[in-house]
Amino acid sequence: MSSTSIHLDPQLNEHVRSVAIARENDALSRLREHTADHPYAVMQISPEQGRLMALLVKTLGATRAIEIGVFTGYSALAVAEALPSGGKLVACDINEEYTAVAQSFWEEAGVADRIDLRIGPASETLAQLIEEGEEGSYGFAFVDADKQGYDGYYEQCLTLVERGGMIAFDNMFMAGRVVDPAPNDVASRAIAALTNKITADERVDAALVPIGDGLKLVRKR
Ligand code: SAH
Ligand code: CA
Repeated sequence: MSSTSIHLDPQLNEHVRSVAIARENDALSRLREHTADHPYAVMQISPEQGRLMALLVKTLGATRAIEIGVFTGYSALAVAEALPSGGKLVACDINEEYTAVAQSFWEEAGVADRIDLRIGPASETLAQLIEEGEEGSYGFAFVDADKQGYDGYYEQCLTLVERGGMIAFDNMFMAGRVVDPAPNDVASRAIAALTNKITADERVDAALVPIGDGLKLVRKR
């Protein structure tokens, strides 16, 4: 057994990235390049994570998905393109400036009609979906917004996702801080607590994948 994951040196990292980029379509590549100049560009998922998520969506056969935390729309575009035509992605964010960029690239990619952008706190949008009777009707959810909100998003997504459906949580490493969070680092403490909660949670199967800043994959039983 290999006792540790191989450390990706810059050359291997570049290999992984270039293999992923080779599978991007034009709109995704242009969106990634457009966002590279943004002061918060690091918030965007990597091309390799985008490929993994798109593959999961297709493998699950998901037709309806949820995203919490859109930013300029890269992860949403990767997921929306993996849905069949007529599929639907409910995309939640509070920021109209970031999501205006997202919408222009979704249009360019020809998937804007599959994406239902909801501006407002995600907890309220998800509560509304539950209220409207949409529980158990989504195949995939991606959680990538405020970290202290993750536990609430977990519970709401568990309600909204069907049995066998998947919830993916980004930034489960918190750049390494999850291992020993400082007392005042409430975001990392929230992620550490959620990690423990999911480990003990009989409602789901789960795996923590060391890609990007740590991706937790959770399957509803
Ligand atoms: N998934 C994106 C990155 C998301 S960055 C990508 O790969 O490109 C996190 C986003 O969460 C930001 O756009 C921020 O506006 C949004 N956000 C923060 N708090 C939120 C909340 N309470 N509800 C919905 N979105 C929120
Ligand atoms: Ca993230």
